[in-house]
Amino acid sequence: AKDSGRSRFEYYTPDMDAEREERHRLEIDLRIAIERQELTVVYQPVVSAQDGRIVGVEALARWNRRGYGAVSPDVFIPIAETSGLIDQLGLFVLHRACETVKRWPGFKLSVNISPGQFRDPAFPQNVAYVLRQTKASPADITLEMTEGYFIQNADRAKTSMAGLRRLGVHIALDDFGAGFSSVGYLRQFGFDRMKIDKSLIHALDQERSAVDLLHATVALARSLDIPVTAEGVETDAQVLQLRLTGCDQLQGYLFGQPMSADDIDSVFRRDERR
Ligand code: C2E
Ligand code: CA
Ligand code: CA
Ligand code: CA
Repeated sequence: AKDSGRSRFEYYTPDMDAEREERHRLEIDLRIAIERQELTVVYQPVVSAQDGRIVGVEALARWNRRGYGAVSPDVFIPIAETSGLIDQLGLFVLHRACETVKRWPGFKLSVNISPGQFRDPAFPQNVAYVLRQTKASPADITLEMTEGYFIQNADRAKTSMAGLRRLGVHIALDDFGAGFSSVGYLRQFGFDRMKIDKSLIHALDQERSAVDLLHATVALARSLDIPVTAEGVETDAQVLQLRLTGCDQLQGYLFGQPMSADDIDSVFRRDERR
């Protein structure tokens, strides 16, 4: 069949062997790193579009691979997903972030959730457990998810979402505008927030049509009463456009890179004094 044909092909290609070997080694190291709790969590400021004050943070996983250095989440998250490590990794990040956010009273916390975690029927229970353990306030927590899973598994997605809703956490649709984003499911699932993908924000400085697309996207969200966060904001020109459209939250290098909790402490104190 098709599958065996593919593996035969891979078997006879030295390059692919090397690639698979490297991937296998990455997987082994990642498993060890997760077990030893060597992954870390950094926090990127999310600011109010109105006055630029920090309103919360997005938690992002980091892995410093022993003997190699930093591995990008775009590399290790997919590996965690295909090797059954994502549940453990995801709960570690959620737990650590919920514990840490208590240092900043009033802050909202966003945590990324992989389809693999969301698919697990026990996921809402796991979240509930972390909430109880850390005494984090569910209303301050937003779980960010991308659209793929919702399109492919509408019914199961609805059940999982209902379970999470009952806990009181919020659910945001991440990376909107990056894929085949459609109006239908945006409405169907009742997301609490939309995050516009950075590719669309970056295009604002390049193409006139991107400005129109941004306006249409935010107008759509507003018509459904869904507040909008723009991610990947890097320039003042982008801020100007985003304010005009009515985006209420901004996130990007212009306001702060993902940073350690200790570095967020100083941002917290700065904005508290303002
Ligand atoms: P994401 O959820 O879309 O996160 C935003 C990414 O954009 C982050 O990359 C962030 O560092 C980067 N970013 C923020 N501001 C700017 C900017 O102004 N310009 C540019 N060019 N980039 C900016 P990062 O940390 O490398 O994470 C990549 C992706 O990996 C995330 O995309 C998310 O999908 C995934 N990821 C990271 N941590 C976790 C996690 O704990 N769990 C899961 N499931 N996924 C995670
Ligand atoms: Ca995200
Ligand atoms: Ca995103
Ligand atoms: Ca992403």
